[in-house]
Amino acid sequence: MSGFRLLALTGAIAIALNGCLTTQSGSTIATDGDEPIPRLTAAAAPGARPNLKSDEAGLRMMYDKAEAGMQTSGALIRDPELNQYISDLVCKLAKEYCAEIRVYIIRAPYFNATMGPNGAMQVWSGLLLRVRNEAQLATVLGHEIGHYLKRHSVERMRNVVATSNGLAFFQLAMAGAGVGFIGAVGQLVAMAELTAYNRDQEREADLFGHQFLVEHEYDPYQAAKIWENLREEQKADGDDDSKSLFLASHPLPNERRETLDKLAQRTDASVINWETGQDRYNAALRKHRKTYLQDELQLRRFDRFEALLEMLLKDGVNTGELRFFLGEIHRLRNEGSDMETAQRHYEQALKDGGAPAEIYRSMGQVHQKSGMPAKAKAS
Ligand SMILES: [Zn+2]
Repeated sequence: MSGFRLLALTGAIAIALNGCLTTQSGSTIATDGDEPIPRLTAAAAPGARPNLKSDEAGLRMMYDKAEAGMQTSGALIRDPELNQYISDLVCKLAKEYCAEIRVYIIRAPYFNATMGPNGAMQVWSGLLLRVRNEAQLATVLGHEIGHYLKRHSVERMRNVVATSNGLAFFQLAMAGAGVGFIGAVGQLVAMAELTAYNRDQEREADLFGHQFLVEHEYDPYQAAKIWENLREEQKADGDDDSKSLFLASHPLPNERRETLDKLAQRTDASVINWETGQDRYNAALRKHRKTYLQDELQLRRFDRFEALLEMLLKDGVNTGELRFFLGEIHRLRNEGSDMETAQRHYEQALKDGGAPAEIYRSMGQVHQKSGMPAKAKAS
């Protein structure tokens, strides 16, 4: 039991490192050939509680403590409408398990979602910014619900404790406990690798995600699109994964994208009215997007952010806001012809409409730096 006490100390960090989107998934799960796609079911009945003396109960207690800390965290996004929207979607997917799951939206500019064994789910704002429609969100939430339904973290804990990685895990977790869960990304990446779900678990969770999409008549091809889009960002960054929570040290999850695509292809005939729920998603995110974009800008990962903005532009939602941030990238980088490019983006943003009021201050600064004080004053 001493392992539990040690783990309990590190709950706040541990809850952030169910790096389940971090691992590469295999491709052998009946996506080829004529075998039917397996239908997965939960490991326990709705409302089932583990024996109080079991290791599972200990693990849940640790997460309960971490969850209590999360409820008072400054990073928690409390907006009632957004919380309602995501919780409703979770309930729609989890059905009779809905009452066991609590959603926490965390303000952190990285693509990440986690699920604790006690039903505490985290969805990070960087994920919400990158997900493009309700179907894509549903596949990620469905994946996390899948981990919960299959009790994967209990299996994982037993593996960690049973292997030599156990000691390294505790040491890293102890070191990370003082950092705060959005503090040191590098450390989180290291821990995510060490405590990641294994390939079979990821495969099962992906299959759950797919199963939920089909069940609710969401476009199953949207699942693979998430990985395609993340790949675009990564390419723009020169394939630098050193600060990537979702890819950690693993190679690009091409395999996973292919698996999800194959699943979608095999599902074509059985789905009648696919939807992506794009309008509902855009409506839910509308008033939050600017804040999340601002958080991304502050990371100063300019190439990557530019690739993300170019992708978001394709959806045509409030393009003035997106072009403002394109301008901001160039203004802050300020190399070569960046100032002229910034100016071009700002002008287009004003034409498009919907740019935030800060655009005038930024335009003034660009004029100033370009040696046009009269124009700067006018801005
Ligand atoms: Zn996962």
